[in-house]
Amino acid sequence: MSTSSSTAPQNGADVSRPLNVGVPAEGIAGERRVSITPAVVPALLKLGVAKVVVEAGAGEAAGFPDAAYVDKGATIGTAEEVWAADLVTAVRVLDADPQSPDLARVRPGQVIVGMAAPLAAPEVAGALAAKGATLYSLELVPRTTRAQAMDVLSSQANIAGYQAVLLAAAALPKVFPMLTTSAGTMSPARVLVIGAGVAGLSAIATSRRLGAVVEAYDVRDAAKEEVQSLGARFVELPLETGQDGAGSGAYASALSEETLKKQQELLAKTVASSDVVITTAQVQGAKAPVIVTEEMVAAMSPGSVIVDLAAEQGGNCALTRAGETVVSGGVSIIGPTNVPSSTPHHASLMYAKNVANFIALLVSNGNIAPDPDDDIVNQSVVSRGGEIVHERVKTALGAGEGVPT
Ligand code: NAD
Repeated sequence: MSTSSSTAPQNGADVSRPLNVGVPAEGIAGERRVSITPAVVPALLKLGVAKVVVEAGAGEAAGFPDAAYVDKGATIGTAEEVWAADLVTAVRVLDADPQSPDLARVRPGQVIVGMAAPLAAPEVAGALAAKGATLYSLELVPRTTRAQAMDVLSSQANIAGYQAVLLAAAALPKVFPMLTTSAGTMSPARVLVIGAGVAGLSAIATSRRLGAVVEAYDVRDAAKEEVQSLGARFVELPLETGQDGAGSGAYASALSEETLKKQQELLAKTVASSDVVITTAQVQGAKAPVIVTEEMVAAMSPGSVIVDLAAEQGGNCALTRAGETVVSGGVSIIGPTNVPSSTPHHASLMYAKNVANFIALLVSNGNIAPDPDDDIVNQSVVSRGGEIVHERVKTALGAGEGVPT
């Protein structure tokens, strides 16, 4: 293992000693995931990391006891020992509360890798920068083929799509599959998934596995084939979304107000005939579009369920309240938050793999020395050595209000 280190002032910590990685217990209430699992510890050590220090009990809620980390070569320590590391990983990077004990532990030159919601809550990035830290926020990893292995939004959305179906199934006063019994035949539940991105496709697959009849809609034409390949019907709307919905790259762009209104009208009948509607529509960097209006909810049968995965971005349903279940005319509108945390074991396994792959871009031979031309690293860096370098975060901080990531 290398113990020599060089300094990489423009891209990371000023390291002149063996590089340690710290894994704190998540500080945000209700967060059950952990950013590094025992399985990825050997990969970090192979990069020349001298020590992986895990806070005692950090993996407990996700089903990773301290002994499992020790088995893989990690060291268990206190929060102080973890935050003494040069590189600290997190699922949700600490809140910006000046009283937060973790914030007080951040040191100048320290590198932090995790989800910091830098556009929705830029004050976190601001607080870390004020402490002199370098922050890599993983929500900013681009959606490219090369970056897939580090794409935390995708890995966690996969889990969220699955969980959304379980939430819906538990709330629906009907069964999902067709049941033929001596007491009669029950018809299968009708599920509509709006937004067939990562979470939507996962919701479609899960609903199909439970035996529901599934329909799905997305503004991107490319989604049609993926929806059909999962055995669902693609709902086609005669909308001119080619120009304003397809967007560029892997994300959709926002619809004009007029197109969105037309979309609501055209979807109304399908929504009304669905037992379950799962909404996942998002446009990167913008508030979620409102697709299911109050009138559309009123036309649904009592007992129907809407699970709005976009609740934290304002919601795809006009009645959604983040973190709550609203009942309107007998229809339950569930606005869950931090869904992946409710499946902490697998969510952590995937997240930790993403983080380890990202760290492999930052660290080689025990030094923090990323390739200065690496687009994944450069698009994810929010602050360097205390200075906010991400233009949109700078603007969000200047404006004093954030937009969702
Ligand atoms: P994604 O970008 O992969 O998918 C979003 C999809 O919505 C895209 O396919 C896009 O084309 C589509 N879309 C955009 N505007 C639309 C419109 N007007 N009508 C129909 N479709 C439209 O995103 P994702 O990773 O699948 O995440 C989906 C949502 O789930 C996001 O809001 C995300 O924040 C949320 N999410 C929530 C949790 C949670 O804990 N609540 C966890 C993970 C993801």
